[in-house]
Amino acid sequence: MPPKESDSVEPKPPMKTQHEVSAAERVLLVGIGWKRAPRFPGMPAGELGRESLAELVELAESAGAEVAGTIFQLRDAADPATLVGRGKLEEIRAEANARQVPLIIFDSELSPVQQRNIEEVTERRVIDRTQLILDIFARHARSREGQLQVELAQLNYLLPRLTGHGAQMSRLGGKSGGGGAGGAGGGAGRIGVRGPGEKKLETDRRRIRERVRRIQESIEDVRRQRALRREARNAVPLGTVALVGYTNAGKSTLFNALSRAEVLVSSRMFATLDPTVRALRLPSNRRILVSDTVGFIRGLPKGLIAAFRATLEEVQEAAVLLEVSDISNAYHDELEQEVEKILGELAVTERPRLRVFNKVDKLSPQMREGLRAAWSRRAPGEEPPVFVSALTGEGLDELLRRVDEVLPVDPLVRLCLHVPLSEGRSLALIHALGRVMHSRVNDSHMDLEAEVPEAMAKRLKLEEFKVKGTSPSSSAYL
Ligand code: GDP
Ligand code: MG
Repeated sequence: MPPKESDSVEPKPPMKTQHEVSAAERVLLVGIGWKRAPRFPGMPAGELGRESLAELVELAESAGAEVAGTIFQLRDAADPATLVGRGKLEEIRAEANARQVPLIIFDSELSPVQQRNIEEVTERRVIDRTQLILDIFARHARSREGQLQVELAQLNYLLPRLTGHGAQMSRLGGKSGGGGAGGAGGGAGRIGVRGPGEKKLETDRRRIRERVRRIQESIEDVRRQRALRREARNAVPLGTVALVGYTNAGKSTLFNALSRAEVLVSSRMFATLDPTVRALRLPSNRRILVSDTVGFIRGLPKGLIAAFRATLEEVQEAAVLLEVSDISNAYHDELEQEVEKILGELAVTERPRLRVFNKVDKLSPQMREGLRAAWSRRAPGEEPPVFVSALTGEGLDELLRRVDEVLPVDPLVRLCLHVPLSEGRSLALIHALGRVMHSRVNDSHMDLEAEVPEAMAKRLKLEEFKVKGTSPSSSAYL
């Protein structure tokens, strides 16, 4: 059946409430290293697993969880029934009891059977790394495509789990292991897969497949529409600055520190629409939006890549990118190269960018001086990084000055508008990025006179709301 116009699916609102990790929930994290996993010469066994677990801590914190403890085990091979051995499971259970955590997160991918068995032994909710990442994406997905992609990834994750036997056993160990986990297949179907009756399962599966199909069609629709608008869009990036970088670089801390510097009334208005976007004022008095984005994640499971990209849509629309990195991290060079690669894939390498070296408070004065000196010797024309500490506030003024320099000038236009109140986002943007002279609410509309950046006026198609007989007078920012 060809999709009718009305057939297209809206992202399901429950997405926002289906979070696996609720705010400040205490969690216990379990990581596994595989003795036979490939590794660089000189790297101790299990090192990759340990790094992965450290990243899981960061991810759990991003999802709003409080990490009550971590457990790491080096193993030869995966136990098909429970991933780790019985003894370890008992230890995990005791730890979960002692620390009073309701949720255990495994760093490795769990088969449905393993997940259930572990839940039974530990008497706790158990999720794996993929579910946690999906949870984080769901929080960040704003655009329609982003929400659809995340839901699609969630359903694709769920589908094989409904059947009670699936391909996921062979993927066991995934990114964090591989080596020793290869022989784990085949056990899943044997162990008490009762659950809901087969008939119910069949209906559920059919329903989910149907929804998957419709979501895929809707994503195609969204893409087609976007392709039509692309030209206009590229020409007019919104006055948005996007924070990009690896998980744990300090993006959210910086985001909060920057928006604390000045809380505009309109900023609060905007925050209710969009918790990861805030308005602030640059030294030149220009107003911009800052957007906190989902952090890049090492070894992202393959099934999540499309969802990850779609949640980064605001990066594609941003006028300036701030590449935040944790300068105190010994691997920050490698991480930055990874970020560069992802930005390349998003086709935004030509966008004005500033490198922000965060956490300078963790460096000794000598190290800071050394860094600065090294950068001042670099080729002229290369944008030097901005050194900041989101924690202490050091360097934030300098950062705002530099953003002012690289943000393209966008002249203001004065408009008299008659905007339906249902256009909440547009109204919030006008208030956040423009200067509203007068405004009055009449029934279902807001009448207002405002100066707004020209690019934004185009982008929001404010022409449509213009009161006839008014002619905008241009005035440039000073
Ligand atoms: P995100 O994943 O990039 O959003 O990173 P977060 O903002 O969540 O920060 C990750 C961790 O780094 C948190 O524990 C922060 O408290 C810490 N952090 C962030 N900025 C700084 C900083 O400038 N100095 C120090 N010492 N710690 C920071
Ligand atoms: Mg964050």
